[in-house]
Amino acid sequence: MSTDLFEPATFRTELRKWLDENDLTPGDDHSLQAHIKQFARVQRALYDAGWSRYGWPEHAGGLGGPVILRAIVGEEVVGRRLAEPGPYSMLEVLAPTMIDYARPELAAEMVPRLLSGEEQWCQGFSEPGSGSDLASLTTRAVLKGDKWVINGQKVWTSFAQFSHRCVLLTRTGDADTPNHQAITAFFVDVDTPGITVRPLRTMHDVDEFCEVYFDDVEVDADRMLGNVGDGWQLAMDLLPYERSTCFWQRIAYLYSRFDALVDEVKRQGQSIDSDMGEVYLALHTLRCRSRATQHRLAEGHKLGPDTSIDKVLLAGAEQRLYDTVRDLLPGAIELDDGEWRTEYLYSRAATIYGGTAEVQRNIIARRLLDLGKE
Ligand SMILES: Cc1cc2nc3c(=O)[nH]c(=O)nc-3n(C[C@H](O)[C@H](O)[C@H](O)COP(=O)(O)OP(=O)(O)OC[C@H]3O[C@@H](n4cnc5c(N)ncnc54)[C@H](O)[C@@H]3O)c2cc1C
Repeated sequence: MSTDLFEPATFRTELRKWLDENDLTPGDDHSLQAHIKQFARVQRALYDAGWSRYGWPEHAGGLGGPVILRAIVGEEVVGRRLAEPGPYSMLEVLAPTMIDYARPELAAEMVPRLLSGEEQWCQGFSEPGSGSDLASLTTRAVLKGDKWVINGQKVWTSFAQFSHRCVLLTRTGDADTPNHQAITAFFVDVDTPGITVRPLRTMHDVDEFCEVYFDDVEVDADRMLGNVGDGWQLAMDLLPYERSTCFWQRIAYLYSRFDALVDEVKRQGQSIDSDMGEVYLALHTLRCRSRATQHRLAEGHKLGPDTSIDKVLLAGAEQRLYDTVRDLLPGAIELDDGEWRTEYLYSRAATIYGGTAEVQRNIIARRLLDLGKE
Protein backbone atom coordinates (compact mmCIF):
# COMPACT_ATOMS: atom_id res chain seq x y z
CA MET A 1 0.00 0.00 0.00
CA SER A 2 1.18 3.53 -0.64
CA THR A 3 2.67 5.73 2.08
CA ASP A 4 -0.03 8.33 1.23
CA LEU A 5 -2.10 6.17 3.51
CA PHE A 6 0.00 7.45 6.42
CA GLU A 7 -1.88 10.75 6.03
CA PRO A 8 -4.76 10.43 8.53
CA ALA A 9 -7.54 11.96 6.39
CA THR A 10 -6.65 9.74 3.39
CA PHE A 11 -6.37 6.73 5.66
CA ARG A 12 -9.81 7.35 7.14
CA THR A 13 -11.42 7.81 3.71
CA GLU A 14 -9.87 4.60 2.36
CA LEU A 15 -10.73 2.66 5.52
CA ARG A 16 -14.35 3.85 5.38
CA LYS A 17 -14.56 2.77 1.74
CA TRP A 18 -13.20 -0.64 2.64
CA LEU A 19 -15.59 -1.03 5.58
CA ASP A 20 -18.52 -0.07 3.33
CA GLU A 21 -17.48 -2.74 0.82
CA ASN A 22 -16.69 -5.50 3.33
CA ASP A 23 -19.64 -6.44 5.47
CA LEU A 24 -18.49 -7.26 9.01
CA THR A 25 -21.86 -6.67 10.70
CA PRO A 26 -22.17 -8.78 13.85
CA GLY A 27 -25.00 -11.27 14.35
CA ASP A 28 -27.84 -10.90 16.85
CA ASP A 29 -26.11 -12.82 19.65
CA HIS A 30 -25.15 -10.30 22.36
CA SER A 31 -23.35 -12.77 24.64
CA LEU A 32 -19.76 -12.09 25.64
CA GLN A 33 -18.69 -15.24 23.77
CA ALA A 34 -20.25 -13.82 20.61
CA HIS A 35 -18.53 -10.45 21.15
CA ILE A 36 -15.15 -12.17 21.51
CA LYS A 37 -15.75 -14.24 18.37
CA GLN A 38 -16.87 -11.19 16.42
CA PHE A 39 -13.82 -9.22 17.59
CA ALA A 40 -11.54 -12.02 16.32
CA ARG A 41 -13.42 -12.07 12.99
CA VAL A 42 -13.08 -8.29 12.56
CA GLN A 43 -9.40 -8.30 13.54
CA ARG A 44 -8.65 -11.12 11.11
CA ALA A 45 -10.29 -9.25 8.24
CA LEU A 46 -8.60 -5.95 9.17
CA TYR A 47 -5.23 -7.66 9.50
CA ASP A 48 -5.48 -9.46 6.16
CA ALA A 49 -6.38 -6.18 4.48
CA GLY A 50 -3.56 -4.40 6.36
CA TRP A 51 -5.72 -1.93 8.34
CA SER A 52 -4.98 -3.28 11.82
CA ARG A 53 -1.24 -3.32 11.07
CA TYR A 54 -0.87 0.41 10.42
CA GLY A 55 0.48 2.46 13.32
CA TRP A 56 2.37 -0.57 14.65
CA PRO A 57 6.14 -0.97 14.15
CA GLU A 58 7.32 -3.24 11.38
CA HIS A 59 9.56 -5.21 13.77
CA ALA A 60 6.40 -6.36 15.58
CA GLY A 61 4.39 -7.32 12.50
CA GLY A 62 3.02 -3.86 11.74
CA LEU A 63 3.20 -1.77 8.58
CA GLY A 64 4.51 1.38 10.29
CA GLY A 65 2.99 4.84 10.04
CA PRO A 66 1.83 7.18 12.79
CA VAL A 67 0.18 5.79 15.92
CA ILE A 68 -2.85 7.99 15.22
CA LEU A 69 -3.86 5.52 12.47
CA ARG A 70 -4.67 2.98 15.20
CA ALA A 71 -7.02 5.43 16.83
CA ILE A 72 -8.80 5.93 13.48
CA VAL A 73 -9.27 2.18 13.00
CA GLY A 74 -10.62 1.83 16.55
CA GLU A 75 -12.97 4.77 16.12
CA GLU A 76 -14.41 3.53 12.83
CA VAL A 77 -14.75 -0.09 13.91
CA VAL A 78 -16.22 0.55 17.36
CA GLY A 79 -18.27 3.57 16.23
CA ARG A 80 -19.98 1.31 13.67
CA ARG A 81 -20.52 -1.27 16.44
CA LEU A 82 -18.56 -3.91 14.48
CA ALA A 83 -16.64 -4.77 17.65
CA GLU A 84 -17.27 -3.98 21.31
CA PRO A 85 -14.78 -1.69 23.06
CA GLY A 86 -14.04 -4.10 25.96
CA PRO A 87 -12.18 -6.90 24.14
CA TYR A 88 -10.72 -4.34 21.74
CA SER A 89 -9.15 -2.36 24.56
CA MET A 90 -6.92 -5.26 25.67
CA LEU A 91 -5.11 -5.06 22.34
CA GLU A 92 -4.28 -1.37 22.73
CA VAL A 93 -3.07 -1.94 26.30
CA LEU A 94 -1.07 -5.13 25.97
CA ALA A 95 0.50 -4.98 22.50
CA PRO A 96 2.39 -1.70 23.17
CA THR A 97 3.56 -3.11 26.50
CA MET A 98 4.93 -6.21 24.78
CA ILE A 99 6.69 -4.07 22.20
CA ASP A 100 8.25 -1.94 24.96
CA TYR A 101 9.29 -4.76 27.30
CA ALA A 102 9.45 -8.20 25.63
CA ARG A 103 12.58 -9.53 23.94
CA PRO A 104 12.31 -8.30 20.33
CA GLU A 105 12.01 -11.89 19.02
CA LEU A 106 9.16 -12.63 21.44
CA ALA A 107 7.31 -9.42 20.49
CA ALA A 108 7.82 -10.20 16.78
CA GLU A 109 6.40 -13.70 17.29
CA MET A 110 3.47 -12.81 19.55
CA VAL A 111 2.17 -9.33 18.69
CA PRO A 112 0.94 -10.36 15.19
CA ARG A 113 -1.14 -13.11 16.83
CA LEU A 114 -2.96 -10.47 18.86
CA LEU A 115 -3.31 -7.99 16.00
CA SER A 116 -4.72 -10.67 13.68
CA GLY A 117 -7.37 -11.87 16.14
CA GLU A 118 -5.70 -15.29 16.34
CA GLU A 119 -5.28 -14.84 20.10
CA GLN A 120 -6.82 -12.95 22.99
CA TRP A 121 -4.59 -11.84 25.92
CA CYS A 122 -5.35 -10.75 29.46
CA GLN A 123 -3.78 -8.54 32.12
CA GLY A 124 -3.04 -10.26 35.44
CA PHE A 125 -2.31 -7.39 37.82
CA SER A 126 -5.01 -7.07 40.52
CA GLU A 127 -5.25 -9.48 43.43
CA PRO A 128 -7.83 -9.96 46.20
CA GLY A 129 -5.76 -7.75 48.53
CA SER A 130 -4.06 -5.52 45.95
CA GLY A 131 -5.97 -3.21 43.63
CA SER A 132 -5.28 0.49 44.09
CA ASP A 133 -2.29 -0.50 46.21
CA LEU A 134 -0.92 -2.69 43.44
CA ALA A 135 2.63 -2.62 44.79
CA SER A 136 1.51 -4.82 47.69
CA LEU A 137 0.78 -7.79 45.37
CA THR A 138 1.78 -11.20 46.72
CA THR A 139 1.74 -13.63 43.77
CA ARG A 140 5.30 -14.91 43.99
CA ALA A 141 7.80 -16.02 41.35
CA VAL A 142 10.88 -17.95 42.51
CA LEU A 143 13.77 -18.98 40.25
CA LYS A 144 14.35 -22.77 40.41
CA GLY A 145 17.01 -23.96 37.98
CA ASP A 146 16.21 -22.34 34.64
CA LYS A 147 12.48 -21.88 35.37
CA TRP A 148 10.50 -19.36 37.38
CA VAL A 149 7.89 -21.05 39.56
CA ILE A 150 4.78 -18.95 40.22
CA ASN A 151 2.26 -19.29 43.05
CA GLY A 152 -0.63 -16.98 43.95
CA GLN A 153 -3.96 -15.61 42.83
CA LYS A 154 -5.18 -12.84 40.55
CA VAL A 155 -8.70 -11.43 40.36
CA TRP A 156 -10.80 -9.21 38.04
CA THR A 157 -8.73 -10.56 35.15
CA SER A 158 -10.89 -9.48 32.19
CA PHE A 159 -11.47 -12.10 29.47
CA ALA A 160 -9.03 -14.60 31.05
CA GLN A 161 -11.33 -17.50 30.14
CA PHE A 162 -10.90 -16.61 26.44
CA SER A 163 -7.21 -15.76 26.66
CA HIS A 164 -4.17 -17.58 25.32
CA ARG A 165 -1.60 -15.43 27.18
CA CYS A 166 -1.40 -13.29 30.27
CA VAL A 167 0.82 -10.31 31.08
CA LEU A 168 1.39 -11.15 34.72
CA LEU A 169 2.85 -9.21 37.63
CA THR A 170 4.64 -11.20 40.34
CA ARG A 171 6.71 -10.49 43.43
CA THR A 172 10.34 -11.58 43.09
CA GLY A 173 12.04 -9.43 45.72
CA ASP A 174 12.57 -10.40 49.35
CA ALA A 175 11.43 -8.55 52.48
CA ASP A 176 14.30 -6.03 52.19
CA THR A 177 13.61 -5.09 48.55
CA PRO A 178 11.68 -1.81 48.21
CA ASN A 179 8.18 -2.64 46.90
CA HIS A 180 8.67 -0.90 43.57
CA GLN A 181 11.80 -2.90 42.76
CA ALA A 182 10.36 -6.19 43.97
CA ILE A 183 7.93 -6.78 41.12
CA THR A 184 8.67 -8.65 37.90
CA ALA A 185 6.44 -9.18 34.86
CA PHE A 186 6.07 -12.34 32.80
CA PHE A 187 4.29 -13.27 29.59
CA VAL A 188 2.58 -16.52 30.53
CA ASP A 189 0.70 -19.07 28.39
CA VAL A 190 -2.70 -19.50 30.03
CA ASP A 191 -2.71 -23.25 29.22
CA THR A 192 0.44 -23.86 31.31
CA PRO A 193 -0.16 -26.68 33.89
CA GLY A 194 -1.06 -25.23 37.32
CA ILE A 195 -3.20 -22.33 36.04
CA THR A 196 -6.91 -22.43 36.93
CA VAL A 197 -9.29 -19.82 35.51
CA ARG A 198 -12.65 -19.29 37.22
CA PRO A 199 -15.04 -16.79 35.59
CA LEU A 200 -16.88 -14.37 37.89
CA ARG A 201 -20.40 -13.15 37.12
CA THR A 202 -20.79 -9.38 37.35
CA MET A 203 -23.93 -7.45 38.32
CA HIS A 204 -24.58 -6.79 34.62
CA ASP A 205 -24.88 -10.58 34.31
CA VAL A 206 -21.81 -11.25 32.20
CA ASP A 207 -18.80 -13.45 33.06
CA GLU A 208 -16.48 -10.68 32.04
CA PHE A 209 -13.68 -11.23 34.48
CA CYS A 210 -12.11 -14.12 36.33
CA GLU A 211 -10.17 -15.35 39.28
CA VAL A 212 -6.91 -16.90 38.08
CA TYR A 213 -4.99 -19.28 40.35
CA PHE A 214 -1.31 -20.15 39.94
CA ASP A 215 -0.11 -23.37 41.57
CA ASP A 216 3.56 -24.16 40.93
CA VAL A 217 3.32 -22.74 37.41
CA GLU A 218 6.66 -23.04 35.60
CA VAL A 219 7.61 -20.24 33.23
CA ASP A 220 10.76 -20.03 31.09
CA ALA A 221 13.15 -17.22 32.00
CA ASP A 222 12.94 -15.87 28.46
CA ARG A 223 9.27 -15.04 29.07
CA MET A 224 10.26 -12.32 31.51
CA LEU A 225 9.22 -8.85 30.36
CA GLY A 226 12.18 -6.56 30.93
CA ASN A 227 14.49 -7.55 33.77
CA VAL A 228 13.98 -8.70 37.34
CA GLY A 229 12.41 -5.77 39.23
CA ASP A 230 11.09 -3.96 36.12
CA GLY A 231 7.45 -4.97 36.75
CA TRP A 232 6.44 -1.80 38.57
CA GLN A 233 7.79 0.40 35.80
CA LEU A 234 5.98 -1.79 33.25
CA ALA A 235 2.72 -1.27 35.14
CA MET A 236 3.28 2.50 35.25
CA ASP A 237 4.09 2.58 31.54
CA LEU A 238 1.05 0.46 30.68
CA LEU A 239 -1.53 2.66 32.39
CA PRO A 240 -1.25 5.57 29.95
CA TYR A 241 -1.89 3.12 27.08
CA GLU A 242 -5.04 2.10 28.93
CA ARG A 243 -6.14 5.74 28.73
CA SER A 244 -5.11 6.79 25.22
CA THR A 245 -5.98 4.90 22.02
CA CYS A 246 -8.38 2.55 23.75
CA PHE A 247 -10.27 5.54 25.20
CA TRP A 248 -10.68 6.88 21.68
CA GLN A 249 -12.54 3.69 20.78
CA ARG A 250 -14.66 3.87 23.89
CA ILE A 251 -15.56 7.49 23.15
CA ALA A 252 -16.68 6.47 19.64
CA TYR A 253 -18.86 3.82 21.24
CA LEU A 254 -20.33 6.34 23.74
CA TYR A 255 -21.14 8.74 20.90
CA SER A 256 -22.94 5.92 19.07
CA ARG A 257 -24.97 5.26 22.22
CA PHE A 258 -25.70 8.96 22.61
CA ASP A 259 -27.06 9.00 19.03
CA ALA A 260 -29.19 5.95 19.87
CA LEU A 261 -30.55 7.78 22.93
CA VAL A 262 -31.43 10.85 20.85
CA ASP A 263 -33.32 8.60 18.38
CA GLU A 264 -35.14 6.81 21.17
CA VAL A 265 -36.14 10.04 22.93
CA LYS A 266 -37.46 11.46 19.64
CA ARG A 267 -39.30 8.21 18.88
CA GLN A 268 -41.07 8.52 22.22
CA GLY A 269 -42.18 12.04 21.25
CA GLN A 270 -40.08 13.77 23.92
CA SER A 271 -38.11 16.92 23.20
CA ILE A 272 -34.32 17.05 23.47
CA ASP A 273 -33.75 18.83 26.80
CA SER A 274 -30.87 20.34 28.75
CA ASP A 275 -29.92 16.95 30.27
CA MET A 276 -29.04 15.77 26.78
CA GLY A 277 -27.04 18.96 26.28
CA GLU A 278 -25.08 18.22 29.46
CA VAL A 279 -24.28 14.70 28.22
CA TYR A 280 -23.17 16.03 24.87
CA LEU A 281 -20.94 18.60 26.57
CA ALA A 282 -19.37 15.92 28.81
CA LEU A 283 -18.72 13.68 25.80
CA HIS A 284 -17.34 16.52 23.76
CA THR A 285 -15.02 17.70 26.54
CA LEU A 286 -13.75 14.14 26.89
CA ARG A 287 -13.23 13.82 23.14
CA CYS A 288 -11.29 17.11 22.97
CA ARG A 289 -9.06 16.04 25.84
CA SER A 290 -8.54 12.58 24.37
CA ARG A 291 -7.78 14.06 20.94
CA ALA A 292 -4.90 16.02 22.47
CA THR A 293 -3.70 12.82 24.16
CA GLN A 294 -3.78 10.87 20.85
CA HIS A 295 -1.68 13.59 19.24
CA ARG A 296 0.86 13.63 22.06
CA LEU A 297 1.17 9.84 21.82
CA ALA A 298 1.50 10.04 18.03
CA GLU A 299 4.24 12.67 18.36
CA GLY A 300 6.22 10.26 20.53
CA HIS A 301 5.64 11.89 23.92
CA LYS A 302 5.72 9.58 26.89
CA LEU A 303 2.29 9.75 28.53
CA GLY A 304 2.17 9.90 32.30
CA PRO A 305 -0.02 11.01 35.22
CA ASP A 306 -1.71 13.61 32.96
CA THR A 307 -3.81 10.74 31.55
CA SER A 308 -5.55 10.56 34.94
CA ILE A 309 -7.51 13.60 33.71
CA ASP A 310 -8.71 11.58 30.71
CA LYS A 311 -9.79 8.78 33.06
CA VAL A 312 -11.79 11.12 35.32
CA LEU A 313 -13.48 12.71 32.29
CA LEU A 314 -14.27 9.33 30.72
CA ALA A 315 -15.87 7.90 33.86
CA GLY A 316 -17.87 11.10 34.42
CA ALA A 317 -19.15 11.28 30.82
CA GLU A 318 -20.04 7.58 30.68
CA GLN A 319 -21.97 7.63 33.95
CA ARG A 320 -23.73 10.89 33.03
CA LEU A 321 -24.84 9.38 29.71
CA TYR A 322 -26.40 6.34 31.35
CA ASP A 323 -27.89 8.35 34.25
CA THR A 324 -29.64 10.39 31.55
CA VAL A 325 -30.84 7.19 29.87
CA ARG A 326 -32.34 6.19 33.23
CA ASP A 327 -34.04 9.59 33.62
CA LEU A 328 -35.38 9.91 30.07
CA LEU A 329 -36.38 6.34 29.22
CA PRO A 330 -38.65 5.27 32.08
CA GLY A 331 -38.18 1.61 32.98
CA ALA A 332 -35.39 1.01 30.44
CA ILE A 333 -32.91 0.40 33.26
CA GLU A 334 -35.16 -0.86 36.07
CA LEU A 335 -37.69 -3.02 34.20
CA ASP A 336 -36.40 -3.95 30.75
CA ASP A 337 -33.77 -6.61 30.17
CA GLY A 338 -32.17 -4.93 27.17
CA GLU A 339 -28.89 -3.31 26.23
CA TRP A 340 -29.55 -0.05 28.11
CA ARG A 341 -29.80 -1.92 31.41
CA THR A 342 -26.61 -3.92 30.80
CA GLU A 343 -24.73 -0.79 29.75
CA TYR A 344 -26.05 1.28 32.66
CA LEU A 345 -24.84 -1.34 35.14
CA TYR A 346 -21.48 -1.65 33.40
CA SER A 347 -21.04 2.14 33.45
CA ARG A 348 -20.82 1.94 37.26
CA ALA A 349 -17.46 0.18 36.78
CA ALA A 350 -16.04 3.19 34.92
CA THR A 351 -15.00 4.79 38.22
CA ILE A 352 -13.22 1.56 39.25
CA TYR A 353 -11.39 -0.14 36.35
CA GLY A 354 -8.00 1.16 35.24
CA GLY A 355 -7.63 3.06 38.53
CA THR A 356 -10.51 4.30 40.70
CA ALA A 357 -11.86 7.86 40.50
CA GLU A 358 -10.57 8.64 44.00
CA VAL A 359 -7.07 7.44 43.20
CA GLN A 360 -7.04 9.40 39.91
CA ARG A 361 -8.00 12.56 41.79
CA ASN A 362 -5.19 11.90 44.28
CA ILE A 363 -2.74 11.62 41.36
CA ILE A 364 -4.03 14.84 39.79
CA ALA A 365 -3.79 16.65 43.12
CA ARG A 366 -0.33 15.40 44.03
CA ARG A 367 1.51 14.93 40.78
CA LEU A 368 -0.06 17.50 38.49
CA LEU A 369 -1.20 20.25 40.88
CA ASP A 370 1.50 19.67 43.50
CA LEU A 371 -1.01 19.98 46.34
CA GLY A 372 0.91 17.61 48.63
CA LYS A 373 -0.45 14.60 50.53
CA GLU A 374 -4.15 14.55 51.52
C1 LIG B 1 -14.71 -3.93 34.79
C2 LIG B 1 -13.38 -4.15 35.44
C3 LIG B 1 -12.37 -4.78 34.73
C4 LIG B 1 -11.13 -4.99 35.33
N1 LIG B 1 -10.18 -5.67 34.61
C5 LIG B 1 -8.99 -5.92 35.19
C6 LIG B 1 -7.98 -6.67 34.49
O1 LIG B 1 -8.20 -7.09 33.35
N2 LIG B 1 -6.83 -6.93 35.11
C7 LIG B 1 -6.56 -6.48 36.37
O2 LIG B 1 -5.46 -6.71 36.86
N3 LIG B 1 -7.48 -5.78 37.09
C8 LIG B 1 -8.69 -5.50 36.52
N4 LIG B 1 -9.64 -4.80 37.22
C9 LIG B 1 -9.37 -4.43 38.61
C10 LIG B 1 -9.14 -2.94 38.82
O3 LIG B 1 -7.88 -2.56 38.35
C11 LIG B 1 -9.30 -2.70 40.34
O4 LIG B 1 -10.66 -2.94 40.65
C12 LIG B 1 -8.93 -1.29 40.70
O5 LIG B 1 -7.55 -1.09 40.58
C13 LIG B 1 -9.35 -0.98 42.17
O6 LIG B 1 -8.84 -1.94 43.05
P1 LIG B 1 -9.80 -2.71 44.08
O7 LIG B 1 -10.99 -3.23 43.34
O8 LIG B 1 -8.97 -3.70 44.82
O9 LIG B 1 -10.34 -1.59 45.06
P2 LIG B 1 -9.55 -0.97 46.31
O10 LIG B 1 -8.19 -0.57 45.91
O11 LIG B 1 -9.68 -1.92 47.47
O12 LIG B 1 -10.42 0.33 46.59
C14 LIG B 1 -11.64 0.31 47.34
C15 LIG B 1 -12.11 1.75 47.49
O13 LIG B 1 -11.14 2.48 48.26
C16 LIG B 1 -10.72 3.64 47.54
N5 LIG B 1 -9.29 3.90 47.78
C17 LIG B 1 -8.29 2.98 47.73
N6 LIG B 1 -7.08 3.59 47.98
C18 LIG B 1 -7.36 4.90 48.16
C19 LIG B 1 -6.56 6.05 48.42
N7 LIG B 1 -5.22 5.94 48.57
N8 LIG B 1 -7.17 7.25 48.54
C20 LIG B 1 -8.52 7.37 48.39
N9 LIG B 1 -9.34 6.32 48.14
C21 LIG B 1 -8.77 5.11 48.02
C22 LIG B 1 -10.96 3.32 46.10
O14 LIG B 1 -11.13 4.50 45.33
C23 LIG B 1 -12.25 2.49 46.17
O15 LIG B 1 -13.37 3.34 46.23
C24 LIG B 1 -10.90 -4.56 36.66
C25 LIG B 1 -11.91 -3.92 37.37
C26 LIG B 1 -13.15 -3.71 36.78
C27 LIG B 1 -14.23 -3.03 37.57
